[in-house]
Amino acid sequence: MTLTGTERFTVRRPAADHLAVAGLPPAGHFIGGSFVPGSSTDSIDVMDPATENVIASVPAGTAADVDLAVDAAVSAQKAWGSTTPKERSGVLSRIANIIEANRETLEQLESANTGKPRAVAEDDVSSTIDTFRFMAGACRTLTSLAGGDYATGHTSVILREPVGVVGVITPWNYPLLMAAWKIAPILAAGNSVVLKPSEQTPLSTLKLAELVAGHIPDGILNVVTGQGRTVGQRLAEHPDIALVALTGSVVSGQAVAETAARSVKRVHLELGGKAPVVIFPDADLAAAAAGVRNAGFWNAGQDCGAACRVLVHESVAEEFTNLLVGEVGSLIVGAPGAGDDIEIGPMISRTHFERVRDSLAEAKADGFQAAIGGSVLDAPGYFIEPTVFSNVPAGAAIASHEIFGPVVTVESFSTTEEAILRANETPYGLSASVWTKDAGLSLSVPKQLDFGTVWVNSHLVLACEVPWGGFKGSGYGRDLSLYALDDFSRTKHVMINHGA
Ligand code: NAD
Repeated sequence: MTLTGTERFTVRRPAADHLAVAGLPPAGHFIGGSFVPGSSTDSIDVMDPATENVIASVPAGTAADVDLAVDAAVSAQKAWGSTTPKERSGVLSRIANIIEANRETLEQLESANTGKPRAVAEDDVSSTIDTFRFMAGACRTLTSLAGGDYATGHTSVILREPVGVVGVITPWNYPLLMAAWKIAPILAAGNSVVLKPSEQTPLSTLKLAELVAGHIPDGILNVVTGQGRTVGQRLAEHPDIALVALTGSVVSGQAVAETAARSVKRVHLELGGKAPVVIFPDADLAAAAAGVRNAGFWNAGQDCGAACRVLVHESVAEEFTNLLVGEVGSLIVGAPGAGDDIEIGPMISRTHFERVRDSLAEAKADGFQAAIGGSVLDAPGYFIEPTVFSNVPAGAAIASHEIFGPVVTVESFSTTEEAILRANETPYGLSASVWTKDAGLSLSVPKQLDFGTVWVNSHLVLACEVPWGGFKGSGYGRDLSLYALDDFSRTKHVMINHGA
């Protein structure tokens, strides 16, 4: 069934709503290779956002818990940092194999904790496995400036070394995958990790720790659960942590960078996004509409690269909007247990649901009519209708700030110069796409766009071989690819005097 804009989406739910969540991990911090209770008895409830049921609780970690984990990581890193790339590669391959053997459990846990459809969870776990496999190979192929005689009578050797212990802070939208994007290159480069998952979605990361325990050296991977302002803050300030990497919001990134500056710690930030989708009049409009259906609404739009801000040439704006409304109307909303064809799950939490709901209300108060969707859906669960706002004027608030929900705006432009200028008019610089059949435009426009990834006639396609990361307010540092290995390594120059 395709909705036209006047009908309402409904939430499909499974027959039995209280299905027990299988395979829950131990509720403790994972430190030095085993689970420990933590120094405080305070705990954090973990919810299923599709049902609003509490499915587990984990310790609210403290600075003392982080300190214990850092001690374990420091001592494990000494031996781990001296292993050969071949040995590290073997461990990373083992992790990939363990995840593959347990993929069903991990997918179910991820869906239960985030409400994401099974198809998204499957994709997350597949990409997680591929990330470990890629890094297992990549760490054996490192290149750098050739060693040589660059000063008379001296030979230079360039060494690539681990940085030491890396603190990692991950978000809730792709909990396991974002952890893998950090853990794999960090371990591949010979570092050890202390990772804090989002307080809202710790389960898949704890499960990963449980599954690999005893199969990797103790202490190279540590997980401390808890809040950003306590556990995250301590990771950013701990003197024995050499680098802190955060995927999350701009505000959290700023807080971490400010704290890290006090100990001159290296910082790696993957922050928010507001990806423009620039559609020229010669583009395949049906393909562009299908592309936005997928890339704007994948993971219910809770994606830093989501195709959420369309800029379409005025001559085809109406035709494109009609195609997009048709595409969006066919999206299936529901809880993950309601069927493998579910495409849109809930927002992660009540707070985030209210934030998205308020953005919709603001847009309506500003006089914008949703071409489709535009409302919240019935509880339980934090569901929001897939929404398209059309005829949005330049500079509108709804098209400027990151909504991080199933909401796409459509603006129009008249010249290529205007399209580029407007696309770049955002504090973010993570990703963008350009839709055209013109070979010249497909080269010249991406070069003028200020985003770390620019797709042409595509959006949100990623591969482990190529880097992911932003410019401007989207942060700095690169995930995936050999560039991530660079980011989690340090370069040392050794110069040998022949005559001494
Ligand atoms: P968030 O910033 O609220 O939380 C991210 C993590 O930071 C959590 O673990 C949180 O506990 C921690 N944190 C919060 N405040 C902190 C502080 N003061 N010190 C240390 N740690 C702190 O983000 P979120 O809501 O979990 O995730 C959504 C955001 O993440 C969006 O802005 C999205 O664009 C961004 N994101 C970016 C990418 C990317 O690759 N660039 C990927 C996924 C998500």
